[in-house]
Amino acid sequence: MKVLVLGSGIIGVSSAWYLAKAGHEVTVVDRLEGPALETSYANAGMLSFDYSTPWGAPGVPFKAIKWMMQDISPLLFSVKDFDANTIGWMMKMLGQCTQSAFDVNKERMLRVARYSADCFKELRAELDIPYDGRQKGTLEVFRTEKEMDGAAGDVAVLERCGVPHAMIDVDACLQHEPALANVREKIVGGLYLPGDETGDCFKFTNALADECKKLGVTFLMNTSIDGLDVQKGKITGVKTSAGTLTADNYLVALGSYSPHVLSKVGINVPIYPLKGYSLTMPIIDESKAPVSTVMDQTYKVAVTRFDDRIRVGGIAEIASYNKELQAKRRGNIEFTVKDLFPGAGDVEAAEFWTGLRPMTPDSAPILGGTQYDNLFLNTGHGTLGWTMSLGSGKFIADLMSGRTPDINPDGLAVSRYR
Ligand SMILES: Cc1cc2nc3c(=O)[nH]c(=O)nc-3n(C[C@H](O)[C@H](O)[C@H](O)COP(=O)(O)OP(=O)(O)OC[C@H]3O[C@@H](n4cnc5c(N)ncnc54)[C@H](O)[C@@H]3O)c2cc1C
Repeated sequence: MKVLVLGSGIIGVSSAWYLAKAGHEVTVVDRLEGPALETSYANAGMLSFDYSTPWGAPGVPFKAIKWMMQDISPLLFSVKDFDANTIGWMMKMLGQCTQSAFDVNKERMLRVARYSADCFKELRAELDIPYDGRQKGTLEVFRTEKEMDGAAGDVAVLERCGVPHAMIDVDACLQHEPALANVREKIVGGLYLPGDETGDCFKFTNALADECKKLGVTFLMNTSIDGLDVQKGKITGVKTSAGTLTADNYLVALGSYSPHVLSKVGINVPIYPLKGYSLTMPIIDESKAPVSTVMDQTYKVAVTRFDDRIRVGGIAEIASYNKELQAKRRGNIEFTVKDLFPGAGDVEAAEFWTGLRPMTPDSAPILGGTQYDNLFLNTGHGTLGWTMSLGSGKFIADLMSGRTPDINPDGLAVSRYR
């Protein structure tokens, strides 16, 4: 079967890998010059298999008001960029902040994320993929007793979902992250999740793309996609800057830009481009650097260790498709790395980056078929696309190959929004 995969981010490339393994003739199309140059380029690097949790949760609307009053806030609004789409998406997202919606969404996310964890293990056993990968867990640190007590709700959810975790004191935090000894007085404890991992998504995507090429996958880069041709309820081609491309089956993995192509054929995916920022810096003093991911609970900023670099990432900015790199946002994320790991990295030499998370209002990705028999979707992974990548790729490849996927598909397809 001939398959066109639209998009060469981590999601498109993971899908291409499993489709090629299933024996299909695969072509990946993207407007950029190489894989993972859009949102998959410099994300926070966390493989949060066990901590996959929806943004919409009871209490979030109140927390959002509190955050808006903080000097260094994890949630920002660029009101000048607001449009009807922004307001509509925010209303849908607020509608997901009930306990019952949270439970449904959490189960869907964990289903995909945990499957993805298995796929990562399987892939590591099969291929030697260089991606600065580490399997040392995530440590969420608390700066006040109040914050630590406030984690009780999260811990109850982890217990209910059977996720391995431990609430730990400061000494135990230092055992996992020895460099925190330099700022011992700033933390009161932590939540440790041993099953989480870390790694550079850009390196991984490009290494996997090279493996795809060995299996015969073609990468058609510098090619922009303008729309899909439809005839008699089927997709008959993709209109691109290189002419119309045809295949038997088509997969949309265009991240935050998926709605632009899909809305033209009557598929409305409620994906919003939720803007985030990261800084990547060389390590100058190994003894002061983190060994894995440290999540600063107060500011919702993640500090992640790659081999010889530190990545710090966070902020959710509601700014539509505005990708302007706002210098004032840099201070928000720079603060955490300087405060928790002073002297570890060369902050002045850091690469400052912004990306748009393809966020659904219910936080779960959109995986599955559409009203067109030969059109499939693997998109809307929001804050956790790197985490869910391999699981989503294998799932969709099985579905497109006519095989029964390893995980239950219920509630994952776009039809859940009807
Ligand atoms: C600051 C930040 C931190 C994050 N941290 C984490 C984390 O720690 N862990 C985690 O799991 N996830 C994280 N994420 C989320 C994760 O990065 C995304 O979910 C993931 O990268 C989405 O991958 P994708 O392949 O769907 O989209 P993308 O990587 O954006 O790929 C889509 C591709 O489609 C192409 N494209 C779009 N439109 C067209 C068109 N018209 N024609 C041709 N090509 C087109 C683009 O060029 C692009 O290559 C973070 C995101 C941000 C912004």
